[in-house]
Amino acid sequence: MDEVNKKNSDDFITLSLGKQKNIALIAHDGKKQEMLDWCEWNKEILSKHFLSGTGTTARMITDRIGLPVRIFNSGPLGGDQQIGAKIIEGVLDFVVFFSDPLTAQPHDTDIRALLRIALVYDIPIATNRSSADFMITSPLMNEEYQRQVLNFHHAAQKRAEEL
Ligand code: PGA
Repeated sequence: MDEVNKKNSDDFITLSLGKQKNIALIAHDGKKQEMLDWCEWNKEILSKHFLSGTGTTARMITDRIGLPVRIFNSGPLGGDQQIGAKIIEGVLDFVVFFSDPLTAQPHDTDIRALLRIALVYDIPIATNRSSADFMITSPLMNEEYQRQVLNFHHAAQKRAEEL
């Protein structure tokens, strides 16, 4: 391995999304019906994966669609932050988040933090229905997928030495 590739391989690590994805479902109040419709439409596909979601969204999907969904706190009470933490831990690797662009949210900072963490960890994240439709019908839903993320241990070690 030449020096440039060696350097790159130290700076990044490969994380894999398994065939069974760990999917977080979140919908703002103005988008909850849309989320229920989407879950009903995609029930068979979703039933093959592990589902979780923010409090109210998760409860509604379980009660009305009959899919098992692990329940985190409600979004305004920190649910988005819990989901972000699970992405960091490598436990969640796919997010469908029907965000309402026309209503101010009290937890806007938490939402932005979640979107940022999804970018940092290169997680597939759909923030509207058409993106979710494209994502869920992708052939990659049934395959393993390798993604490259920054090697945080290595980066922290380098910073600790250099700063
Ligand atoms: P909820 O949270 O599912 O508890 O309504 C969603 C959100 O507003 O982020």
